[in-house]
Amino acid sequence: MRIDLHCHSTASDGTDTPAGLVRNAAAAGLDVVALTDHDTTRGYAEAVAALPEGLTLVTGAELSCRVDGISMHMLAYLFDPAEPALLAERELVRDDRVPRAKAMVAKLAALGVPVTWEQVERIAAGGSVGRPHVATALVELGVVPTVSDAFTEEWLADGGRAFVEKHETDPFEAIRLVKGAGGVCVFAHPAAAKRGRTVPESRIAELAEAGLDGIEVDHMDHDAEARERLRGLAKDLDLLVTGSSDYHGSRKTVSLGAYTTDPEVYGEITRRATGAFPVPGTGGV
Ligand SMILES: [Zn+2]
Ligand SMILES: [Zn+2]
Repeated sequence: MRIDLHCHSTASDGTDTPAGLVRNAAAAGLDVVALTDHDTTRGYAEAVAALPEGLTLVTGAELSCRVDGISMHMLAYLFDPAEPALLAERELVRDDRVPRAKAMVAKLAALGVPVTWEQVERIAAGGSVGRPHVATALVELGVVPTVSDAFTEEWLADGGRAFVEKHETDPFEAIRLVKGAGGVCVFAHPAAAKRGRTVPESRIAELAEAGLDGIEVDHMDHDAEARERLRGLAKDLDLLVTGSSDYHGSRKTVSLGAYTTDPEVYGEITRRATGAFPVPGTGGV
């Protein structure tokens, strides 16, 4: 049995449509493929409708998280896609422009700038609100002479006094939400150092304590040393070990099934999940 539990489609940043992905997965000789687009379940229906006979689909998502200022990804499998709390969080991660702009207004107010949300909304004039609108408010109030003068450390530039980061989910909250939706959580590529700082093992131990089910070990961004270390960690923390391609179509060079997950681990994931069942292919359309 060949099982690939981490793949992206055009529902996020992959280049295969969800239908194309499942067809390619069957052609690559996979028995099980997971659809794990970033913060969305938008591709499910199309993938299910096109699912070839003999291929089983595991529905999932890759959730954008951040802990200690470190961005990380959490794979969530077989959760109920309609469960409201997790759904709201996915939507917030995909589009947090309004909460983010409101938080910037609050920071500016705390700095003594008399900017209001009503003012920023009026400037946005029904468009999707963003930092430039907040900057324009600063110009209107005479705080800065031009919009670009608002994009400084003093005000709204990245890391500036009134800057607010894009929303990413706290991984402990992600685990709580995914469990609440009947899903299973696997920390994606935890040692992918070339993407930036990685989460320390002490934090992974805390995540395990909080209900994390597993870690992705066999991944293109992990060298042999990292895999061995992660396997040891998984053993110590009693975590499941997965392997997956993290396929993105032609956006990355890795092919479907380049790394796979042990059938026993897959079985354990399906046993733990209560939010959704794997979907067996019936021939597709
Ligand atoms: Zn990722
Ligand atoms: Zn991914």
